[in-house]
Amino acid sequence: MKQVDIIVPIYNEEENILTLYQEVKEVFSVLDYNYQLTFIDDGSTDQSLPVLRHLKAQDPLIHYISFSRNFGHQNALKAGMDQSTGDCVITLDGDLQHPPELIPTLLKYWEEGYDVVYTLRSENEKEVGFFKRISSRLFYRLLNRLADLEMEKGSADFRLINKKVVRILQGLEEHELFFRGLVKWVGFRQVGISYEPRLRTSGQSKYTFLKMMRFAIQGITSFSTKPLYLAAYLGIIFSLFSVLYVPYALISYFFGHAISGWTSVIMIMTFFGGLQLCILGIIGLYLGKVFTQAKNRPLYIIKE
Ligand code: UDP
Ligand code: MG
Repeated sequence: MKQVDIIVPIYNEEENILTLYQEVKEVFSVLDYNYQLTFIDDGSTDQSLPVLRHLKAQDPLIHYISFSRNFGHQNALKAGMDQSTGDCVITLDGDLQHPPELIPTLLKYWEEGYDVVYTLRSENEKEVGFFKRISSRLFYRLLNRLADLEMEKGSADFRLINKKVVRILQGLEEHELFFRGLVKWVGFRQVGISYEPRLRTSGQSKYTFLKMMRFAIQGITSFSTKPLYLAAYLGIIFSLFSVLYVPYALISYFFGHAISGWTSVIMIMTFFGGLQLCILGIIGLYLGKVFTQAKNRPLYIIKE
């Protein structure tokens, strides 16, 4: 029988672990697969870890990895994938928003020969908040425009990955992971299916607005260097404009109303000041990426 590795990142999901465990167990009770459920405790500060310890003692199919601190959702997924030895991996969130009853469908497509079966969140008004819907749509539009990567809106970290592709992902040592992009980037036969996300029943979303922004910027700068070109283009355009300004300055000087230029000077100064800061910021983002990659620290540290 084929072995399916289920990977679930957990960050303060004490109320959700047991329900998820039961649902997964139920799904597999009618399937012809061996499975193993691995939780990655991403430095939870609630009772998640004790709950996991307890569960592991009860059921030999349960495993867990506990990080020494919070390393982030994407690194938790990577840790789960790194330890996988099964024929495929299925990743799903620990908050039950990714319905386990979709697992048989994922497996069905896998059996048909797809190497990656990813899921798309259907944008149901009720389940996905207005803000999340709009910001997510905007993000994918921007990402597709900037990166050479076709990503559908509503992509989620709920997917099945074949062993062959898992091996490749295990070998990557990329920092600031953006799995959605990476999985698309590896290629192979892929298929997307849509699902209705559930409401988060307990606990709250760990992705605050700032975290989401950071994640979006990480995603874009991981897959595109076009923002750097933008900086260069803007630089060229504005230096052309400033050449046009020289005759105006000269005429003003010779025809004697030079002092009246104060307003325009201030305006130009503040404008270019802002533009330069913005461009430096973009360059800084990429430099920061080189910096973290050069240090090559581990993506996560396992405590237990
Ligand atoms: N998560 C994690 N580390 C973090 C943040 C989140 O392991 O630093 C887990 C979290 O427990 C959940 C999944 O990642 O299982 C998705 O997080 P969440 O549901 O908060 O995100 P949202 O669904 O709101 O995008
Ligand atoms: Mg969630």
